Amino acid sequence: MIEAVLLGTGTSVGVPFLGCRCAVCQSTDPRNQRLRCSLLLRAGETRVLVDCGPDFRQQALRAGLERLDAVVLTHEHADHLLGLDDLRLFILHQKRPMPIWAQPPVLDAVRRIYSYAFGESSAGSFTPSFELCPLAGPPAASPLAGLPLQPVPVIHSNIPTIGVRIGDLAYLPDVKQVPDESLPLLRGLRHLVIDGLRYREHRTHHNLDEALAAIARIRPQQAWLTHLTHDYDATTAEADLPAGVRLAYDGLTLPVTLDQTAT
Ligand SMILES: [Zn+2]
Ligand SMILES: [Zn+2]
Ligand SMILES: [Zn+2]
Repeated sequence: MIEAVLLGTGTSVGVPFLGCRCAVCQSTDPRNQRLRCSLLLRAGETRVLVDCGPDFRQQALRAGLERLDAVVLTHEHADHLLGLDDLRLFILHQKRPMPIWAQPPVLDAVRRIYSYAFGESSAGSFTPSFELCPLAGPPAASPLAGLPLQPVPVIHSNIPTIGVRIGDLAYLPDVKQVPDESLPLLRGLRHLVIDGLRYREHRTHHNLDEALAAIARIRPQQAWLTHLTHDYDATTAEADLPAGVRLAYDGLTLPVTLDQTAT
């Protein structure tokens, strides 16, 4: 059995917003407390992480994560990769560099941001070591730690960005637009987790209306909005959502079926 665990469902600054005294940011409902976006795939003993943001350490502790086989990065924004240094103990205990799968420009960003982990200067100090693995673009799904992960290109800002599909689940956390060419990669989904940032428009993210339009094109059985700001109160906002669309929350665990024809 494969499970997808949403380790974080918050926008780039997380929720609560620092310094904000709105009702959502002061709420004690755990569904209104959103760490930065990340997804953990669990398949037997295999653990694959999609994005590794600044909340990774806290998320790993919360999820009881004890080892990790690989990381996939959807893009190079800080909220998706600033936790990579905290992989050091896994790298140490597993006695091998951590495979980081991403598109080549994202791997370049990892090399730049974590320059201390590469080259001579890292010898002898407790720095992370990464194995940078270029993700093959579609249509080929990458066999990744034994899991068939399909990169799904999306338009986000002016940098290359993907979501991922595994079996009947797709995860598209940062999206302004799902291009037509990616629609064939998103057929027959049971669960779609997709960017639905806030109500007002945003330059690089779906607002709610855009997310609902994308969901109507993709037609999953169930859609979950993620990368959420403090706009959404988990106790009331779902009442206004159409059937088949819900707010994701940290810890939400979804089943994955690899046979994509299964329902
Ligand atoms: Zn993001
Ligand atoms: Zn707030
Ligand atoms: Zn982003």
